[in-house]
Amino acid sequence: MKLVIMGAQGSGKGTQAVLLANKLRIPHVSTGDVLREEIAKGSEIGLQVKKYVESGQLVPDELNNKLVEQVLIPHEKGFILDGYPRTLAQAKFLDSHQRLDRVIILRISDDEAVRRMEMRRYCPKCGANYNLAFVRTHLEGMCDHCHTELKRRDDDKPALIRKRLSIYHEQTEPLIQHYEKQGKLMSVDGERAIKDVFSDVLRRLRTKT
Ligand code: AMP
Repeated sequence: MKLVIMGAQGSGKGTQAVLLANKLRIPHVSTGDVLREEIAKGSEIGLQVKKYVESGQLVPDELNNKLVEQVLIPHEKGFILDGYPRTLAQAKFLDSHQRLDRVIILRISDDEAVRRMEMRRYCPKCGANYNLAFVRTHLEGMCDHCHTELKRRDDDKPALIRKRLSIYHEQTEPLIQHYEKQGKLMSVDGERAIKDVFSDVLRRLRTKT
């Protein structure tokens, strides 16, 4: 099955993508993770994209499209793509390379997105992600797996959160109509509990509704 999951920052798309990937046994491909790995490795592409990712801007389509094309090559049987496409040009590029089954959009209000992003933390050592709005760690501010002090992503700082949301509204929301026209869109209320969103999506994938 070839799926795309979309939604504003903080909509829970990363969380749902991991749950769906495990349940459906398909790989989870997150362009944000791929880009951050390239930056951490200091690769040529990493050096080119660093300034965009760290300032909350979109990486230019031509850099991103090439990377995504390569990353998807080993996944011909299926995947869940998270964080891509984010522009109409990317969606058209993807249409020309892959035949998607469904596109899931998780809808949340801007206020809820901001609230959730302010509580988002990650572990710089093992990469675990936390949202303190939903789950408390055993020791405050420390990773449950490796006891490293949790950090906030540079692009989750308050000044950048609203900017990233406005980029989402301007550049990514038009994709909703694009996929609606193709009859592939599944619009989901993302403000519910994680398990309720997950069971709703699974049911609708199975019943093709
Ligand atoms: P994410 O982890 O999905 O929030 O992505 C983090 C950052 O990576 C974004 O703010 C962009 O700078 C960059 N990025 C990820 N996916 C894309 C994409 N499809 N197009 C452009 N930039 C992207």
